[in-house]
Amino acid sequence: MICPVCGSNNTGKVGSDEYYCANCLLEFSKSGRKTQYFYIDEEGSSVLLKNKTAAKKMAAMIQSDQTEGTSILKGKHAFKVY
Ligand SMILES: [Zn+2]
Repeated sequence: MICPVCGSNNTGKVGSDEYYCANCLLEFSKSGRKTQYFYIDEEGSSVLLKNKTAAKKMAAMIQSDQTEGTSILKGKHAFKVY
């Protein structure tokens, strides 16, 4: 699965139609032609992002945040692995 946000193939399946991108640290789900984008907050819950533009912004924010060494995503890997 290619990440629809960043185009990386560094993704993993985390649910029946859910994928996680290890590059932009977002989750996305596909159902039919519809793709939804999620950001995982520090409690580990999925926050739905409005659209792909919002997802790209969030990915950029997460990445710049990481390079600064302070993560807003402390619990980001708390999602369920099936
Ligand atoms: Zn990505």
